[in-house]
Amino acid sequence: MSIKSKQFISPVIVSSLALLLYYLFSVTTTHFSHFQYAILQVLRNLCLLIFLFLLFEKLAPLQLYTKILIALFLGAVAGILFQHSMLEIKPIGTAFIRLIQMIVVPLVFASLLVGTASLGNVRKLGRIGTKTLIYYLLYTAFAITVGLILANVFKPGSGLSEDVQARLMQNFSGQVGSKISNITEHANPLDILLNIIPSNPIEALGQGKLLQIIFFAIFVGITLTLIPKKKAKLVISLFDAINDVMVRMVHIIIAIAPYGVFALIASVVGSFGVDILFSLIKYTLLTITGLIFLYFTYPTVVQLLTPIRWGYFVKGILPAQTVAFSTSSSSATLPVTIEVCQETFGVPNNIASFVLPLGATINMDGTALYQGVSAVFIAQVYGMHLGIVEQLTIVLTATLASIGTAGAPGVGILMLVIVLRQVGIPLEGIALILGVERILDMFRTTINVTSDAAISVVVAASEGELGQN
Ligand code: ASP
Repeated sequence: MSIKSKQFISPVIVSSLALLLYYLFSVTTTHFSHFQYAILQVLRNLCLLIFLFLLFEKLAPLQLYTKILIALFLGAVAGILFQHSMLEIKPIGTAFIRLIQMIVVPLVFASLLVGTASLGNVRKLGRIGTKTLIYYLLYTAFAITVGLILANVFKPGSGLSEDVQARLMQNFSGQVGSKISNITEHANPLDILLNIIPSNPIEALGQGKLLQIIFFAIFVGITLTLIPKKKAKLVISLFDAINDVMVRMVHIIIAIAPYGVFALIASVVGSFGVDILFSLIKYTLLTITGLIFLYFTYPTVVQLLTPIRWGYFVKGILPAQTVAFSTSSSSATLPVTIEVCQETFGVPNNIASFVLPLGATINMDGTALYQGVSAVFIAQVYGMHLGIVEQLTIVLTATLASIGTAGAPGVGILMLVIVLRQVGIPLEGIALILGVERILDMFRTTINVTSDAAISVVVAASEGELGQN
């Protein structure tokens, strides 16, 4: 046997053995004391990790995004097969999320400060800012409209039987109260705008308030162009170096993405009740169909408005999409989105560092579409008719609501509270959709991140700066 085939076969044997052990450890759960069971848990998870390690690192020199996709698939399979026991490996996923979240604040602050200072031109900044906002808001409004049209045409709420309805209300109405009480502080649009100015920038950095950080970083960046060059250079080169360190850290962390993604998906799928999915199948499928439709619009827009080809965009954005799908957080995905846009699509730092963090906070097309479908769905279940005025109110409210809330897991449902309240749809109706909230969050976050990336590419191309890194 050649050395090459030996190198291939031994990992296959060891990883199959590890998987077999995992399975055996999983089925022999009876008659163990608490302590023995804990040891068994550690052992079987070790087997799983060995299996994954050999698969990802030894079997074939796969590209990172292929590994992440395999991890996504295997995670879902493992979640279905081993169900609740997959919650044991969730900490690996949580560690991965925390690692990339760790980079967000220093990366955004340093890169935006350097980007603005090197732009050196307030006019240009204003132009890019205006363009970005217009693209973001228009696309968000378009996304809700698609959601509203789908829900009006296919009426997902009209087929829900009364006993399913009663069961959903009974199971989830307890959780609605906390969601509603979380939202009151964001209700006033003027406050949302005022809140962009941090009264204490250190607090803003400490609490990771992205809009406030963006505001402060831009202000400092602009002011650096107004003080003597020699002094400014000191500050800029310091933050430039910090930026480089953060980017390097992203490279390191992203290498463990396949493990994080596997753990996150396996634990979500493992803890997810499939029966709930079936009872809301029409609503869930309709939302996902709408999101898939949006998904195809982005490469199309990119192909039409920039030199980047359809397929290149679809393939290049995959690492950010898979991280978004498994973390359900556009803010946590931000370092990966910035990396992809700069390295793969050639968006220059000064545009990526501004457009993308802004997008992670205010641009949520997937969430917007979800709100359109959900608002109409709940109204239909309650037998309410939504006229054109109510539907337009939904478009406006959902677009504005997206500005004040950063992309984090479950934020969409909080924004939905604002929308429902505005058009007088009973808030308890949220209980109907809470059961499938997490799975839809994964899909809509993927779209949110894709949209941010696509618009950053379009803005860079419109400035004639794509590929000028
Ligand atoms: N999780 C979404 C995001 O981070 C927001 C949401 O729809 O809940 O973009």
